[in-house]
Amino acid sequence: MTVIDRPQSFALTEPVRGFLKKQHQLLIGGKWVPALSGKTFDVIDPSTGEVITKVAAADAADIDLAVAAARRAFDHGPWGKSKGLERAKLLWKLADKIDEHAEEMATLETLDNGKPIKMSRIADIPGSAENLRYNAGWAGKITGDTIPASLPGNFHSYTVREPVGVVGAIIPWNFPLAMAIAKIGPALAAGCTIVLKPAEQTPLTAIRLGEFIQEVGFPEGVINIVTGFGETAGVALVDHPGVDKVAFTGSTATGKAIVRACAATLKRVSLELGGKSPTVILPDADLAKAIPGASRSIFFNSGQVCAAGSRLFAHKKIFDEVVGGIAEEAKRLKVGPGLSPETEIGPLVSEEQFQRVTGYLAAGAKEGARVMVGGQSVGNRGYFVEPTILADTVRDMSVRQEEIFGPVLCAMSFDDEDLEKIAAEANDTTYGLAATIWTRDISAGHKLAKLLKAGSIRINGGGLDHAVPFGGYKQSGWGRENGKDGVELFTEVKAVSVNLS
Ligand code: ADP
Repeated sequence: MTVIDRPQSFALTEPVRGFLKKQHQLLIGGKWVPALSGKTFDVIDPSTGEVITKVAAADAADIDLAVAAARRAFDHGPWGKSKGLERAKLLWKLADKIDEHAEEMATLETLDNGKPIKMSRIADIPGSAENLRYNAGWAGKITGDTIPASLPGNFHSYTVREPVGVVGAIIPWNFPLAMAIAKIGPALAAGCTIVLKPAEQTPLTAIRLGEFIQEVGFPEGVINIVTGFGETAGVALVDHPGVDKVAFTGSTATGKAIVRACAATLKRVSLELGGKSPTVILPDADLAKAIPGASRSIFFNSGQVCAAGSRLFAHKKIFDEVVGGIAEEAKRLKVGPGLSPETEIGPLVSEEQFQRVTGYLAAGAKEGARVMVGGQSVGNRGYFVEPTILADTVRDMSVRQEEIFGPVLCAMSFDDEDLEKIAAEANDTTYGLAATIWTRDISAGHKLAKLLKAGSIRINGGGLDHAVPFGGYKQSGWGRENGKDGVELFTEVKAVSVNLS
């Protein structure tokens, strides 16, 4: 690991400085308004711990207004009667705005979340624009079925997929803009209106997105953006009787709390939650690809990725080579402030997250895990943690069972050719979000894919694709985002039967 020297300050461009100086408000019913309480909260730069700006702190009263605006827009506004093509054009315009302001958005994302600027530039920002365009393509193409009826008589039966209504979208801080878009794109394509609550740690790009939303001319109330805390704004949104569906991405613990709250009104709920995803490397794998792939899978975004490959299973024959190779990669990675162009590992997002990850490292060491590389925090300012590999973990250690959400890999070997036994080990977790298999044996790859209990299996690498369904088995979630399944998540099925006799 190389630590990059920290310059005192980075020269921010005029648009970024101008944005940070603003009074950041809530976008409700097409207008920027302060929180009714007048409260604000600080936004922190995780590379320094310093305050960058302040944003409005919404609570239940503001959520009331936002839901009412979304409700009006859905029930009485032009949006409810809009054609798919009109919605698609607006989504495309929004995507173009993101691209026009890509550098500004990348800087804001990095300042707020800490992630390396090169990742914001090549992944988060352009990926968000592309996701909007992908989902724009679905607007007007969401169809039902015609169904041969089984009742005696002469029936014509068909289904239509209608927008579910007002969506309360609650998102995490690891990919702030991309997560906002992952809800806005399919919800709007399906014809819903939305109240979006960004994570309190990372509200900035969502607020800037709100400005673009106004510039491109979405009807008022179609997209409302309310910044605030989970315990106040988040809880109020989930509880609100005017919300038809909650779309949540975040931790499994919060997902369970949301399910309990939604039970009161039986709101629709989709959940994209945590994981402890396995990377399985079979002895015949192409290690020149598998080693950097496994390394990226855990160290990308400082491991703050729900699908991170945080448990490595490598065959005994190749274990030393694999783990040695990943350790070399870990040592090579440049840790530093996200705005430095060479940085490959930025800080963790917050003090709380830093305490959580370092707490797991301490617990792992106490329980007897062996640190092969890393294992420490870095510097005395900001929330930096070394890329870490732990060996000799046993089944019931917290580092082995729980989602750390940091750059920490548990490395295990297996000495077996029996795919069922390998899968049983990989499946030995309460989670089931993703799994990656590395092998040159096409048959073994497919057989193992069948045996693994996870919603998203990658054979020989690959990343998140807006067109491919993504979501969890077991305690990793309910429903699938992305692809056709992703837009259908924002619809209700209505069956219509006509008695023709
Ligand atoms: P983390 O613990 O890493 O911050 P969470 O799952 O708690 O992850 O947070 C993800 C999102 O859920 C954030 O936008 C947060 O404000 C929100 N949130 C947290 N608790 C609740 C809750 N009880 N109800 C609704 N939203 C919540």
